[in-house]
Amino acid sequence: MTRSVFRFAPSPNGLLHLGHAYSALLNARMAEVSDGRFLLRIEDIDTARCTPELERQLIDDLRWLGLSWEEPVRHQSQHFADYGEALDTLMEAGLVYPAFMSRGEVRARIEECAREGREWPHDPDGAPLYPRDERTMPESERRRRIAAGEPFAWRLNVEEAMARYGKNLYWDETGAGPEGETGRIAAEPTRWGDVVIARKETPTSYHLSVVLDDALQGITHVVRGRDLFHATAVHRLLQEILGLPVPLYHHHDLILDEHGRKLSKSRGDTALASLREAGMQPEDIRRQVGL
Ligand code: GLU
Repeated sequence: MTRSVFRFAPSPNGLLHLGHAYSALLNARMAEVSDGRFLLRIEDIDTARCTPELERQLIDDLRWLGLSWEEPVRHQSQHFADYGEALDTLMEAGLVYPAFMSRGEVRARIEECAREGREWPHDPDGAPLYPRDERTMPESERRRRIAAGEPFAWRLNVEEAMARYGKNLYWDETGAGPEGETGRIAAEPTRWGDVVIARKETPTSYHLSVVLDDALQGITHVVRGRDLFHATAVHRLLQEILGLPVPLYHHHDLILDEHGRKLSKSRGDTALASLREAGMQPEDIRRQVGL
């Protein structure tokens, strides 16, 4: 029988907080009880915000919690070429297009729509969808604008991708979504609109790297926070297009602060480093997250 493979995949762009501790400990626990493997993956494609210092701190925090994982640890920043190949596949299939609109231009479009009394669609995180106009931009204009050095991102034409690969698209959920969704979940990636697949300077995105790495590392169980539940629809579509295996998904509870808000790295909420400094022990952390 093949062993299950779990992973914790943090981004070293801030300090780990209690929510990360919960996710890492839960993954390790689930691996342990199923006699599975536990991997750590560093999701550091954002080379401007991810730093070696934050990575050192993250590793130190995880070791302090009593976790261990298989070596070597995969660093996404060392595999841009792999992601680039997958991007080429999407380009050759005509499923991605260069998108040039600035935030300001998108905002103007939304305001125009509001003036006409029409509602602009939003994604599950509440962000406005990207306009679809550039899907049909003539190839000559695309080439001219890229050659002129204009900033752009590669976006997925999600309707076209769904038309070709979206038949009976679902995943199996052993945790739960924000509305308690569990079991077989119908994937609706169109709710996200034309998501960014890669950027001009970074030949990948979170969505593209995460599905490639989960496949490459043979991940059988993706256990992560409920905030990524709806993003799984995009991951399922990319897996279909790229012919990748489909793991089981388990979206777990989020640890909330005293105001009921999701913890955030940017607010410096309950960083493990500060809890450690305040004298908390790993057992206290486990107890606090209910493990
Ligand atoms: N790197 C992502 C994060 O830190 C997690 C990705 C995942 O587990 O799929 O939020």
